[in-house]
Amino acid sequence: MSKLYISYNIVHKLCQQAAQEIKALGQLVDLIVAIGGGGFIPARILRSFLKEEGKKNIPIQAIGLSLYEQMGDEEKIGKEVVRTQWLDFGSLGQHMDMLIGKNVIIVDEVDDTRTTLHYAVTELERDVREIEEKTGKQGTTKFSVFVLHNKRKAKRAELPEEFKEKGRYIAGTDVDDVWIAYPWDAIDIDEHTEAAKEQGNY
Ligand code: 5GP
Repeated sequence: MSKLYISYNIVHKLCQQAAQEIKALGQLVDLIVAIGGGGFIPARILRSFLKEEGKKNIPIQAIGLSLYEQMGDEEKIGKEVVRTQWLDFGSLGQHMDMLIGKNVIIVDEVDDTRTTLHYAVTELERDVREIEEKTGKQGTTKFSVFVLHNKRKAKRAELPEEFKEKGRYIAGTDVDDVWIAYPWDAIDIDEHTEAAKEQGNY
């Protein structure tokens, strides 16, 4: 199989299932950090399923990370993640403490080589330390990760040890190392959905 076609319905159901898992574990989520662009739609759907009656919607912050192929001779070619957009603390920075002492879930569509997730967690943890120093505010900030798909393959980077704890790393499904075609990239959504149905991904 050259490509795995994923329908919107599957995306929706994987988010619903993840929210159920998060709720069943009694995990609270104060902030959703969506890695753009693949994390945006899953993050928004996840928020609906995490919503508690009578409570406010969980805020979503978008961050932009891009994985660039480094140029160089073949053996040295690697991949580097670059920040293109970071957390928006508001114009006066008055919301800088939005990360401190919070339960934050980082959302992306796929964990391929894990480079992006590793970078996101490392940078966000660094931000927390810097903000704590700047504001004098302290608290236990807990990060967790949700991806729709995790590719079964050797990873180029690892997440910190504590992500092995239950509920800290949630993958909707584990898949083989193939290219995943997501519905938001489809030119013809009907054809895409048919292809997903044929593969049983509906
Ligand atoms: P990483 O290798 O850092 O885990 O993944 C980097 C990024 O590459 C992902 O966030 C995603 O945007 C993109 N990517 C990796 N594998 C796939 C795939 O199979 N399908 C799509 N659509 N994007 C992918």
